[in-house]
Amino acid sequence: MPRPRQISKVQIPPRVRGFIPVGYYKDQSEPVQLNIEEYEAIRLLDYEGLSQVEASHLMQISRPTLTRIYERARKKIATALTEAHQIVIEGGNAIFNGSWFECERCNCKFNNPNELPVQSCPVCESFNLHHLED
Ligand SMILES: [Zn+2]
Repeated sequence: MPRPRQISKVQIPPRVRGFIPVGYYKDQSEPVQLNIEEYEAIRLLDYEGLSQVEASHLMQISRPTLTRIYERARKKIATALTEAHQIVIEGGNAIFNGSWFECERCNCKFNNPNELPVQSCPVCESFNLHHLED
């Protein structure tokens, strides 16, 4: 029986839903699915340069769990780069820090740490927003 998955805390949702290789043709290959906590592990460890202890603390998961998530994420990204797969960022067990919104027009995601009323996108000022649930 698979062990129950821990829920990770994610500081910032990804800015995009995925990546397409240059020269990619739609029926070339199955996309690689990177879930939210795999994305966050890569962001914290490789982009921010945190230690695994620091990153596991921020994500509120154990260090061995983080190590497994990170190794899975790297393997998926390496596979996508090497075999020219699309990367889709979706799914996973994660909660975000504070209330988050997504702009329907520019797809920017922003949060609302002070719980002030949110009326428009801070980037493009569109009023067409939706609330991202935890
Ligand atoms: Zn916008």
